[in-house]
Amino acid sequence: MSVRYAKKNDRRMRSLITIAVFVLLIVVLLICQLCLKGGGDDFPEDFGEEPVVSEEDSSWQLVLVNRDHPFSPQTGFSPVVFENGQKVDSRIVPALKKMFEACRRDGLLPCVTSAYRSPEQQRQILDAKVEEMLAAGVSEKDAVTEALGWAAEPGHSEHETGLALDINSSNEKKCPSRRVYAWLAEHGAEYGFILRYPEEKTAVTGVEYEPWHFRYVGRKAAEEIRSSGVCLEEYLSGR
Ligand SMILES: [Zn+2]
Repeated sequence: MSVRYAKKNDRRMRSLITIAVFVLLIVVLLICQLCLKGGGDDFPEDFGEEPVVSEEDSSWQLVLVNRDHPFSPQTGFSPVVFENGQKVDSRIVPALKKMFEACRRDGLLPCVTSAYRSPEQQRQILDAKVEEMLAAGVSEKDAVTEALGWAAEPGHSEHETGLALDINSSNEKKCPSRRVYAWLAEHGAEYGFILRYPEEKTAVTGVEYEPWHFRYVGRKAAEEIRSSGVCLEEYLSGR
């Protein structure tokens, strides 16, 4: 092999190596870019932002119904059968289902004994309570006053909202109702439900202690009410 030919070959080899290094560099750069893009998926641009819930969307959850605040049905109010022939506002069914499933998983036997009531049904309940008092020998005036401590006047019962339920046990021997009440008082807020008439708040709510009566207010409000120990009237007046 002549020296001249060897030099020519050597130059060709060098330019081949230069091209190979150049191609390799481009490949490495492309791989790096792909890796950076992939890593970026773990940190989306909207990372850390809270979902926006408009006031209007959740106002129905916090409707206040008591002796001073009558109920008037608004758009979106549509009672549907949940269990045991009892109706509730269709919007609370998913949360209610989850709560009942969790309660049953813990070995309890919750049962809805009363939920949505029409104003006519509320009238019948109040009248029956007055009759019961009269039969027990209470004067007519006192009978009405006492009955109103147990059952609200039509238009003023939370049961008319479809957001309130009386929950007991379906089998008192196997599972006493007090165990169902205790479970609901402890876990209800996780599903958006509160014990509506606590024992220590009868002066504010105007209703006797009802360990079976639970009211849907949405998860955020329920957890705030439970942790601060207020009742719905106090919670709403402090907002
Ligand atoms: Zn009730």
